[in-house]
Order: sequence, then structure tokens, then C-alpha cells
Amino acid sequence: MMSSQVRDDTGVRTSLDRDLLNEIEKNFKGRTYLDEWVRRKLSTDWAWISPAFSGLVESAVADVVVFPRNVKEVIWLLRFADSHGIPIIPRGGGTGNNVGGVLPIRGGILLDMRLMNNVGDIDGSTVKVEAGCRFGTLMQRVRSRGMDLRVYPTSYPLATVGGFVAGGSRGIGSYEYGLIWDNVDSVKLVTPSGEVVVLQTEEADVVTHSMGTVGVVVEVGLRLRPLSEHVLAEGSLYELSSVADLVDRFIEERVEFWHLMVRNSGYSRLTDDFMGSSSLRDGWKVIAAYPSGRGLVDVFRRGVERFGGRISHMGVMDRASMDRVLSGVFGLPQTPYIIRHIKSRDPRKHLLYLVLYHHHNRVWEVVEGVSEIEVGEPLIEVNLFWIRGAPYAHFGLFVEGDIEKLEELRKRFAGIGYKFDLHSYQISDRLGELFPEKLRAMRDFKRKVDPNDVMNPGKLGV
Ligand SMILES: Cc1cc2nc3c(=O)[nH]c(=O)nc-3n(C[C@H](O)[C@H](O)[C@H](O)COP(=O)(O)OP(=O)(O)OC[C@H]3O[C@@H](n4cnc5c(N)ncnc54)[C@H](O)[C@@H]3O)c2cc1C
Repeated sequence: MMSSQVRDDTGVRTSLDRDLLNEIEKNFKGRTYLDEWVRRKLSTDWAWISPAFSGLVESAVADVVVFPRNVKEVIWLLRFADSHGIPIIPRGGGTGNNVGGVLPIRGGILLDMRLMNNVGDIDGSTVKVEAGCRFGTLMQRVRSRGMDLRVYPTSYPLATVGGFVAGGSRGIGSYEYGLIWDNVDSVKLVTPSGEVVVLQTEEADVVTHSMGTVGVVVEVGLRLRPLSEHVLAEGSLYELSSVADLVDRFIEERVEFWHLMVRNSGYSRLTDDFMGSSSLRDGWKVIAAYPSGRGLVDVFRRGVERFGGRISHMGVMDRASMDRVLSGVFGLPQTPYIIRHIKSRDPRKHLLYLVLYHHHNRVWEVVEGVSEIEVGEPLIEVNLFWIRGAPYAHFGLFVEGDIEKLEELRKRFAGIGYKFDLHSYQISDRLGELFPEKLRAMRDFKRKVDPNDVMNPGKLGV
């Protein structure tokens, strides 16, 4: 049982009994961390992006951090934690779009998965990879073998496979391939009883976006596509209504892009260096990426020109630059500077991020709505993607603001589209409206495999 607080050798408080800590240290020699700065650093993710988490980021600190090296060690640790009622919080790169996902709100053991990072052989069009492998590494490995990832997260240099599968949803490539959930061939999961379960395709739905609340993902089978040269096409348009008409037409005609997105001028100025182009002052950019063999140059050009725009970039782009352009705020070197700049002027301010999901043709009302509120210079990005045969839009808004601004934005957009609340660590606040059945199945699964609620407790109410 968790017991009275003790001091470890460094004098730092943890809530775990010394005997329990000794046992953990014995099993993870040289890979157990009690130092307060390590525990603090790894006990958070991008939660600091949200003013709603300000207090928690300070107070929610794991009692101990452990780095497992193999499945056997994960099994031992989960059995140990389950039998003593100690919370377990799995962690990958700490860049989860489910911000707050790794906050140990009830303390416990933080399980950093990054030493489990082996990439297996490619079998047909699937690769088996350990959960702690970073997407940047995986991408290089599969590309060197003539294959490519279908969908990957915008923070691919740091994000891990386990973190994106257990915490992500849509990513780069989701216009063609949908959510990461639909590109998972198998998931190997260790449950708190120490059982190793392998879930195939749709069975894995109870694990994807479960934020580590049902078990620890140790290995994922990811579906791949053949490696090919890609074209990046960019059209510049002045009117939002023209952008909406153009995008709707591309969707209706099912033009075979791999990725399709829209950015306002504030956002697209950030990627001008990579594009070698310049952004219209108050205009919009429609950006598409696709394998060059698909011959969509004329389709894209005709579409843009028909709605009064001009082509601002069109051509084969090297993959590293393309990855950077598409990843935007989470992959750009400028982001830390933007955040530092905001904080240096007013420490209470954040780079607030608001996300909504929509049926694709409703998103434009929301984009228009932004101009009705006082938000300084907003960065707006709309990503188009398909979920199991239906087109959706992911509306992302970045603005400078504090907790009052966040509340104002929440009120303004309440009830429009589907809530995907980045400022809550409850899974239901992200999945509840658009994926109620998935949420129900996840809760049923949790009740079965984690009756003592040791896996990332407090994040999935059952
Ligand atoms: C605000 C924000 C918005 C974003 N939006 C997008 C977007 O729209 N599209 C996009 O492509 N990318 C987006 N990203 C990036 C992307 O979502 C993340 O990089 C990725 O999902 C998480 O990877 P990670 O390894 O850093 O996960 P972490 O942050 O480490 O973990 C994510 C969650 O999964 C759990 N977890 C981690 N590893 C495991 C495991 N092995 N087993 C079980 N549970 C585990 C954690 O407990 C946590 O709850 C966004 C990032 C941020 C910060």
C-alpha cells in the first residue's frame, strides 16, 4: 500500500514506502530516478500550454521514474504496482496532443518507455516496432527500406509510437489514411495483472487514445505504404469563401491527395522559409501533398485558379522540408521562440490552443467566427481528413491569452462542431461527442483489465 511519506537518500520527498522503493531499485538498477528535477521534468508534457493546468503542473509529480528495457520488466512492474495499489503512468515523448495525459495526478510510478525502441523487420506492408521508438527514427528506418509511414504525428522528431497510438488521433497523412487508429495492424499490451494481450486491427480500438489507462503498449504493428517522391502544392487565395469552395470541391471530387490543409496568413508566414514563397498579407493558403506519380498538378492548378487564387508553390519537395512544412507549429524551430516571447511580456500568458472537429463543410463558419472575437493575431490551421469514409475537418486556433481568454473562447465555440478539449485531461472531453461507442468500449475494457484503477488513474472515469 502507499504509505506515509519517507525521505529518500537525496532528501527529496516521495510518497512511496522505502521498502517498495528498494524493491523497484533492485529490479531497475541504474534506471530508477528519485531526484526531484527528473521526476518533475518527466511528470509533465505540453500541459504548460494550457492555463487550466497551471496549478497541476506544479503539484502532480511522480514518486519515482523508471525506464524499462523489455516486456519482462514491464510485466514485473505492473504486477508489483497492481498488488500494492500504486498508480502507473506510461510516458513516451511527452508531446501528446492529449495535453495533461502524463500528469501523475495521484502520484505513482512514471514509466518512461524510450529505452524500448527496437524496429523489427518489415513484413509485407507492416512493421512491428517497440512503443518507445520515436517517429523520426522509425521514419528513417522504413524509408531506408523503400517503405514509408502512412500517418505520423506533427511532433514526429520527439513523439513515440506508443504515445501517438495511445494518445493521438489524426496526423500528417490523415487526408488519405484517416486516424492513426485505422493504421494500426496490431497492439501488444501489458495489463496490470501482467498478462500480455495482442489486439488485432479494430480490437485495438479500446487501446488507441486510451492515454495509458488500460495498460502499457509495448509493441505496435503499423501499416506502411511504398516510398515515393512527393509533390507539395500551395495555392494562395484572398477570400475565405473561395477557400471553402475549393476545398469542398476537392473533397466532393475525391481528389487523391495524401495530405490537405488550409492556413491563414499568420500561420503560413511561419513556413515561408521552407516553402521558398511569401504569404499574402490577409490571405489564405491551401496546401496539398501527394505522391508525384498521381499527376495532380493540373487538377490543383485549375482548382486554385478557378476560385481566383494563384499557385505560390508547386513541385517535388525533399521529404525533410516537406515534413517540416506539414508539421507546422509542433515541428517548427520558431515555436519555442514564439512562446518565450509571449511569456517574456506577460508570464501569465500562454500560446493557447483550441481544437474542434467538424463535418468538413461546417468548419468555415467557425473560422469566420474567429474574426468576431478579440484575439490579437490568430494562427489558424484547418486539416482535412477522413474517418471511416466520411470527411472531417480539424480546426486549430492558436492565440496568445490567459485563463480568461480561454474561457471566452470556450464559450464562443461551445456547441459548434465536436468538442476535442485540449484543456482537460479527461478522455471523455475529447472522445465523448464524436466517438461515444469507442469511449464505452474503452471503459468496459478498463473495468475488466484494471479493476484496481492503477493505470493512469483519474483520466478515464468508469
Ligand atoms: C497541443 C498539441 C496538439 C497536437 N495536435 C496534433 C495533431 O493535431 N496532429 C498530430 O499529428 N499531432 C499532434 N500533436 C502531436 C502528437 O499528438 C503527439 O506527438 C503524439 O500523439 C504523442 O506522442 P508522445 O510520445 O509524445 O506521447 P506522450 O505525451 O508521452 O503520451 C501521450 C499519452 O499516451 C500515454 N502513453 C505514452 N506511451 C504509452 C505506452 N507505451 N503505453 C500506453 N500509454 C502510453 C501517456 O500516458 C499519455 O497519456 C499535438 C501535440 C500537442 C502538444
